[in-house]
Amino acid sequence: MSSETSNTLKIQNLHATINDIPLLNGVNLTLNAGEIHTIMGPNGSGKSTLSKVISGHPSYSVTQGNILWNDKSILDLSPEQRAQMGIFLAFQYPVEIPGVSNIDFLRLAYNTRQKNKNLPELDPLSFLELASEKLKLIDMDPSFLNRSVNEGFSGGEKKRNEILQMALLDTYIAILDETDSGLDIDALKSVAQGILKIKKNNTILLVITHYQRLLNYIHPDFVHVMEKGQIIKTGNISLAQELEQKGYNYIKL
Ligand code: ADP
Ligand code: MG
Repeated sequence: MSSETSNTLKIQNLHATINDIPLLNGVNLTLNAGEIHTIMGPNGSGKSTLSKVISGHPSYSVTQGNILWNDKSILDLSPEQRAQMGIFLAFQYPVEIPGVSNIDFLRLAYNTRQKNKNLPELDPLSFLELASEKLKLIDMDPSFLNRSVNEGFSGGEKKRNEILQMALLDTYIAILDETDSGLDIDALKSVAQGILKIKKNNTILLVITHYQRLLNYIHPDFVHVMEKGQIIKTGNISLAQELEQKGYNYIKL
């Protein structure tokens, strides 16, 4: 891997389909280490599709274009290999895994990553210590660790749990798909603060959202608008403010 501060994800003329239905129609986007990007856009414009294609979801076919990590294509890499590289996708709808405790799940994920990097794996006690530190950072109750993964978690707890996963795994690209949906104002603020606390200087954050409010906490460097599977406009946070006031239609004028 090249020097950590110069990591770049380049999405070039990306076209993708599902069952031959075109969903992405030429997405261009360059994300550099340390930057915070937001994608907004109407429902059905392809935002979730883009995040799943970046993480290598097998249901989608890339029909044209490329995704480059430090100038090397990742299109032939499996979702697992991409995750090992440090691509982390927080799903719009996190899955529940009844019967598997959160701490066991997290330790398995953590140790798989360690093994991959030829680093020592952690025994349950040492891992508990590490996880407890991260929990404090994002204001989570330690009892979370002993509950089944996401089972019966409130919307806010599921989101915070994903931030915990991100904090434990060495994340270079964190994609948060509507992390704010279903959160009340206090939960939104604490999730946003958690994201910023665990973000390292070399992490790329890609935040998909409908709401200006989350952006006020996160302060993105770039705001992109997606429509019909393309990025149709890029600006800064004032673009998001304009959209909030005028709606998406005004962009097309
Ligand atoms: P967004 O996240 O911006 O709301 P999505 O990426 O979820 O949009 O969806 C983009 C488009 O792809 C939508 O029109 C949606 O109906 C369509 N789509 C998503 N999954 C499938 C599928 N499995 N089969 C057919 N169309 C799909
Ligand atoms: Mg979506």
